[in-house]
Amino acid sequence: MKTEPSHLFYQSRQPRPFLDYGEGIYLYDVSGKRYIDGSSGAMVSNIGHSNPTVLAKMKAQMERATFGYRLHFRTEPSEQLAAKVAGLMPAGLDRVFFVSGGSEAVETAIKLARQYAVTQGQGSRWKVISRMPSYHGATMGSLGVTGSPLFTGAFAPMFEEMPKIPAPTCYLDRDNLSEEERGIKYAEMLREKILAEGPDSVLAFLMEPVGGASTGALVAPDSYYARVAEICREYGILLIYDEVMTGAGRTGTFLAAEHWGVSPDIVAMSKGFGAGYAPLGAVVARNDMVEALLDAGGFQHGFTYAGNPLACAAGLAVLEEMEAHDIIGNAARMGDVLKARLSGLMERYPFIGDVRGKGLLLAFELVSDRETMAVLPKDWNANVELVELAYERGLIIYSRRTRGGKEGDHFLVCPPLIVTEAQIDEIMEILCDALDAFA
Ligand code: PLP
Repeated sequence: MKTEPSHLFYQSRQPRPFLDYGEGIYLYDVSGKRYIDGSSGAMVSNIGHSNPTVLAKMKAQMERATFGYRLHFRTEPSEQLAAKVAGLMPAGLDRVFFVSGGSEAVETAIKLARQYAVTQGQGSRWKVISRMPSYHGATMGSLGVTGSPLFTGAFAPMFEEMPKIPAPTCYLDRDNLSEEERGIKYAEMLREKILAEGPDSVLAFLMEPVGGASTGALVAPDSYYARVAEICREYGILLIYDEVMTGAGRTGTFLAAEHWGVSPDIVAMSKGFGAGYAPLGAVVARNDMVEALLDAGGFQHGFTYAGNPLACAAGLAVLEEMEAHDIIGNAARMGDVLKARLSGLMERYPFIGDVRGKGLLLAFELVSDRETMAVLPKDWNANVELVELAYERGLIIYSRRTRGGKEGDHFLVCPPLIVTEAQIDEIMEILCDALDAFA
């Protein structure tokens, strides 16, 4: 593809066509070529593109006010959205702080936890334990908790590296443990880390309940979630769920936490929350924590665009649309269908080593040997090659060459939550065609 000179730059030179418009699960470039948005962008466009109801509600808000600074005015969209979100959260999580993206949400969650600890006379607590691999954002604070040498490497001297424990990559374990025992094994690594760091220095444990691009939709055994929550309680450590990717229905429930009945102390959300209609994220925390902060003089934190009425009107319209059309229920149902179809590929393609995920946060991983789960040779460049073969054929999937903090090739297949069974057939047809060309 011809690369035209551009003043714009992002992370690589990869040339891409100009986008013309989107409709439902499809995107069209200016030449008229159609793409299935099989990754919802970066797991963002949960309700599909150009939803007319959302656009009409945004337009109505735009005609009234696009911005009113939150220290000068309360706005109806932000109040209504906060109330709606609180109603969708586990009991007790009912105070909402808006931001404009996932990294901001994670930074906010960490700062909220820290300031709360200070108000409780626990100023010695500042370490946030997280997992390797993980992805929590691109800002300096969120890099400290991100377990990905690819993203953190060059900046390492510039931020505080936080303690990490291994993510529960049980599918790679070749031991005689049951799934439940494996879950406990990985959860107990948290206790070991807390004891090694000194419990009084540990502020929080931060985790993606279902991994995103860092692990390729990694789900832990059920036993993991409850044990992690117990350990946090035992040592007075705050449990923060990074639901930036998993929240707003992606895994078939509003929060992924619901699958395991866990009630974290703080939840960070973004991506599907604004669903690509506006940059939007939220941090939801326990009421008593927020009251303690406000009593102690306020939360010393904020971003200029936080809670702006246009983004909140978009977020509210997205949630209303999800409710009106049972889009989260569809994610659960279609997630089962798509996962079964992806799992079926393992018969046809011996180099697919694993299929995993929940709802419509699904991934498959390529290996050179399914028994040993050895990775493909690096020079195959599989994560780029297969993505490009699919892209040429009009299917967008998402990949990153990482596994357990090392190298590996997983591919996320995460269409908008409105996808139908017939559209899953279309996705599978193109994917098989791309895999055939790759094989
Ligand atoms: N947390 C998770 C789990 C993510 O997947 C991401 C983005 O991929 C982020 C945080 C950072 O979000 P953003 O890119 O919107 O800053």
